[in-house]
Amino acid sequence: MSTVLISGASIAGPALAFWLRRRGFDVTVVERAQTLRGGGYPIDIRGTALGVVERMGLLPRLRESHVDTHRITFLNADGSQAASLRPESVSGGDGSDLEVRRGDLAEILFDTVRDDVEFLFEDSIVTMNDHPGGVDVTFRSGRQRTFDHVVGADGLHSVVRGLTFGQEEQFHRYLGYCFAGFTLPNHLGLKHEAVIWNEPGRAAALYAVGDSDTVHGFLPFIRAEAPFGAFHDPQAQRDLVASAFAGDGWEVPTMVEAMRAADDLFFDTVSQIRLPRWSSGRVALVGDAAYAPSFLTGQGSSLALVGAYVLAGHLAAAADHTTAFEAYEREIRPFIEANQGLVAEGDAALFPATAEALAARNAALRERATLPAEAGRPEHSALALPEFGSLSA
Ligand SMILES: Cc1cc2nc3c(=O)[nH]c(=O)nc-3n(C[C@H](O)[C@H](O)[C@H](O)COP(=O)(O)OP(=O)(O)OC[C@H]3O[C@@H](n4cnc5c(N)ncnc54)[C@H](O)[C@@H]3O)c2cc1C
Repeated sequence: MSTVLISGASIAGPALAFWLRRRGFDVTVVERAQTLRGGGYPIDIRGTALGVVERMGLLPRLRESHVDTHRITFLNADGSQAASLRPESVSGGDGSDLEVRRGDLAEILFDTVRDDVEFLFEDSIVTMNDHPGGVDVTFRSGRQRTFDHVVGADGLHSVVRGLTFGQEEQFHRYLGYCFAGFTLPNHLGLKHEAVIWNEPGRAAALYAVGDSDTVHGFLPFIRAEAPFGAFHDPQAQRDLVASAFAGDGWEVPTMVEAMRAADDLFFDTVSQIRLPRWSSGRVALVGDAAYAPSFLTGQGSSLALVGAYVLAGHLAAAADHTTAFEAYEREIRPFIEANQGLVAEGDAALFPATAEALAARNAALRERATLPAEAGRPEHSALALPEFGSLSA
C-alpha cells in the first residue's frame, strides 16, 4: 500500500486524506497545532466544490451547519446605514452556496478520517530528502520516517512549499491588505447578519452566526508592504492592527480591545500564491499552499476541496506519481487561475481606498440591493468534476 504524508489538518489536508484513504492509500497527517484548529470566519462552499462534498456524503451535515446569513449591512464612518443587501448579492453566489464556519468544516472533514488516518499533532516537517525510493522526512519532534509521497496542505505560508521550491516571497502575490479575525461578545445582539463599517482603506466587520452570544470580528486594512516580519510574531500583529485603526469611531475601539485580548486571533495578509508548478519529484501541494486565491474571492476552501479530490483521483489512477501530478495540474490549473483572476491588487470592494471610491461603492451596493439576485459567477463552476472509477473502501 502506498504511503502518503500530508502536512496540515485544516481543509485541504483532511479532504485529501479522505479521498486517498478511499482509494487505498495509507495516510499520515502532521499538524503543527496541538489539536484541530477551530475558529475562523464563515467560509463558502460553492460551484464545483458542492459536487465534491456531495460525493463525500457530507451535504446533510453541512446543511445542518449552514450559517444562513439573512443580510449584510454596510455602515458609514459615523455608524449610519449606507446599504443593506442579501448575502448572495455581495458574494455573487446563486443561492445554492453553503456557508459554514471554517472550524465546523475542518471538524466535519476530520470526523470522516479520524479513525483510519494517523494524525501527528504538535509536530512539523523539518527536512525532506526526495530520492527514487521515497521521501525521507525528519520531524521537529525528532521522528524520522520515509513515505512514498508528501503533500503540502499547510496553507499560505507552507513549510513543504518552502522546503521544495524556496522562499515564499517569490510566489506570494500581496494584494495590498492585511486582516485580523477573532471572536468577541455579541453585545449588539446581532442575529444571522453581518455589519460592515468603512473608512477609506479600512473596514470593521461583525459577523453573527445564528443568534450566538459571540460574533466574529474582522479588521482588514490597506498596507503598502506585506509585513513578512510579523507572520511569526503575534504581538507585532496586534500592534500593527491597533495602529491601523487608532482613533476610529463606531465599535472599532471595542473591537481593537477584544482583538488584543483574543486567544483565537488569526492574522494574515490578503494574498495569493502563484507557482509555476505544484509538484517536484514525489512532493506535491494542494489548497492554499499551492494556489491560495485570497479571501476576497471567497473561494479558498472550495479550491482546496476540489484540488484534494482531483489530486487523490489522479494519484490512484496513474501509473506513477509524475504522471499523476502532471494530470492533477493540467486538469485544474485553468479553473484555479480563473478564480484567482476574480480579484486584482487594490480592488477590494469591501474596503475601497479613497472617499470617492467608497461613495461610488456604496451607491453601487444600493443599486444592487434593488435588483434580483444574479446567477452565480461562471468561474465558481468552471470545472466539471472528473470521474475516477470505483472506490476501494
Ligand atoms: C485557524 C484558522 C483560521 C482561519 N481564518 C480565516 C479567516 O478568517 N479568513 C480567511 O480568509 N481564511 C482563514 N483561514 C484560511 C482558510 O481556512 C483557507 O484559506 C482555506 O480554507 C484553504 O484551506 P487550506 O487547508 O489549504 O489551508 P489552511 O486553512 O490555511 O490550513 C493550513 C493548515 O496547516 C497547518 N500548518 C501550517 N504550517 C504547518 C506546518 N509547518 N506543519 C504542520 N501543519 C502546518 C495550519 O495549522 C493549518 O491547520 C483560516 C485558517 C485557519 C487554520
